[in-house]
Amino acid sequence: MKFEELQLIEPILRAVQDEGYTNPSPIQEQAIPPALAGRDVLGCAQTGTGKTAAFAIPILQHLTAQKLESGRQRVIRALILTPTRELALQICDSFKAYGHYLRLRTAVIFGGVSQNPQVDELKRGIDILVATPGRLNDLIGQGYIDLQNVETLVLDEADRMLDMGFIHDVEKVITRVPSERQTLFFSATMPDSIMRLCNRILTDPVKVAVTPVSSTVDLIEQALYYVDKTNKRKLLLYLLKNPALVSVLVFTFTKHGADRVVRELEKGGVHAQAIHGNKSQNARQNALNAFKNGDIRVLVATDIAARGIDIDELSHVINYDLPNIPETYVHRIGRTGRAGLGGTAISFCCFDEKESLAEIEKLIGKKIPVVEDHPFPMEIFVQTPKQPRQPRQRIASERGKQLSARKTADGVPTKPGGNRSKPKYSRKG
Ligand code: AMP
Repeated sequence: MKFEELQLIEPILRAVQDEGYTNPSPIQEQAIPPALAGRDVLGCAQTGTGKTAAFAIPILQHLTAQKLESGRQRVIRALILTPTRELALQICDSFKAYGHYLRLRTAVIFGGVSQNPQVDELKRGIDILVATPGRLNDLIGQGYIDLQNVETLVLDEADRMLDMGFIHDVEKVITRVPSERQTLFFSATMPDSIMRLCNRILTDPVKVAVTPVSSTVDLIEQALYYVDKTNKRKLLLYLLKNPALVSVLVFTFTKHGADRVVRELEKGGVHAQAIHGNKSQNARQNALNAFKNGDIRVLVATDIAARGIDIDELSHVINYDLPNIPETYVHRIGRTGRAGLGGTAISFCCFDEKESLAEIEKLIGKKIPVVEDHPFPMEIFVQTPKQPRQPRQRIASERGKQLSARKTADGVPTKPGGNRSKPKYSRKG
């Protein structure tokens, strides 16, 4: 199918062409026609499928079709809620790109930075607002935002928003937009909590899904290295001697782990930076820019931070730590197979991670090919003993630290009673 067949207006077709897209991606093919027809859409798709254009294009076309009375102040007619500032920025950029030849104004707001420039932009009048839930509610509370004229509401990466404890903020926003509206809902996974939310807020939605998560991995070359935990850093440095690893995204389980890997890489002479929720917005953006420009070859990230990373030509993903949720493996390695491009995913597996590996292989339905010929083969074949219990006081202070670190990527602490005890991406939902 061609974009021309989607009944898009000429300025949007031209902008899409400028972006270098020739054909709509499957999610675009499925979601754009019903969204243009005003239907609610429930899309099961992850980042990398082209879902941003799938909701942005119909919104731009719809808003353009409405004639604004000259001299009338612009009002927010489309609202996009997304979990992280990186995603918010990318979505705003996408609206600006696809709407390049239109006379619509898009603004983006997110937490963790001064609100003043955002408020100034809102005051000038905008048509489309991209927001993270915490900052949006803050500014609504201060009277800077009125959502009464919203005609289309988009919930992007809804599973991640719930996962990050934004449910109350999302619910609050929903009460502020008109009940008579179009809702476009996108989520990479559809656990029960998401389905319940959908049932409440969507009206007779058209359900669209792109290839199930497990089949997206087919384009990506995968390799597995069995290695002891203590040798992972040496193996990483060894692999990075290969110049074919041009742009590498390394995943660690924790933020501290990410910082540690960066220190070790720098010690070994490899320029790397970490990107995770404890970093300031500027530090994250700078690291991302340096990576995109090729100034640094390696970016080390945690899963939440990586969700917002949009890099088209990522040559390698390295799972320094294997995720214990198998879907996360698929999301991680999917960073390299963006929009049909191939890539390589390398995973390190120590003895403690064998269970996770088994679950991953079950999900993707195949064994990851093992590379046996490397200088750091696994030598420890016993489980690492559990750490002795920490004294009470220490636990309390660690908990305090964790809670303060629970400031989400939005810079807003999660609300009490959020999904505190829920595991991320509970498999049962
Ligand atoms: P998204 O899933 O919206 O984050 O998009 C993933 C990447 O695919 C972005 O870098 C887009 O620029 C790119 N993309 C989106 N739609 C298309 C398309 N139809 N053809 C080629 N690339 C696309």
